[in-house]
Amino acid sequence: RTFEDAFRHYPLILEQIKQQNFVKPSPIQCQSWPVLLQGKDLIGIAQTGTGKTLAFLLPALIHIDSQPIPREQRVGPSALILSPTRELAQQIEMEINKINYRGIRSICVYGGGNRREQLEKVKKGVEIVVATPGRLNDFMMNGKINVKHVTYLVMDEADRMLDLGFELEIKKVMLDIRPDRQTVMTSATWPPEVQKLAEQYMTKPYKVFV
Ligand code: AMP
Repeated sequence: RTFEDAFRHYPLILEQIKQQNFVKPSPIQCQSWPVLLQGKDLIGIAQTGTGKTLAFLLPALIHIDSQPIPREQRVGPSALILSPTRELAQQIEMEINKINYRGIRSICVYGGGNRREQLEKVKKGVEIVVATPGRLNDFMMNGKINVKHVTYLVMDEADRMLDLGFELEIKKVMLDIRPDRQTVMTSATWPPEVQKLAEQYMTKPYKVFV
């Protein structure tokens, strides 16, 4: 498969891929893009370095753009990416920043980062929030981030989030997000705890092992 196969209806996405000089899609990308573009839930069992970030990110951009409520009328972000660590959150943010798609804006919020700076950026309006669960709950509880319009949710490296003890924080976030959202999960491993998380928060997920 080629990038053209996956995104033939999305020339703007193809343009952005071309600018990054990639030769061909990675296995997880080939398998994830058609599923995610159909609006289905997906679990990707994959390590870092497999191209998993763009596997969920490019469909996220298309998703944000194709929502019935116009972007400017939405309160808060349309896409939320949960990350176990600040480092991973920043890496995801870097991948987002390499892409310029219809002016979609993002913010990265994590514990230990400058809270006021993060808040300023949130206030200006963003379509994508990349967050560690603790800081996100802090912002949600204080009314700084409203997740009611989130329709595309990613739990990146779910096994690490559980290892780091974020189960309750994830649960709290989920209570506020509409159940008919599209949900993506990535995990390097597939132990019973991760399976339970998928059962709780995903709808008929398609599974990809790479
Ligand atoms: P990830 O597995 O998402 O952490 O991605 C690892 C690195 O691979 C990132 O720097 C991406 O920019 C890069 N990458 C993603 N997709 C491709 C691709 N199809 N071909 C070459 N490099 C890629």
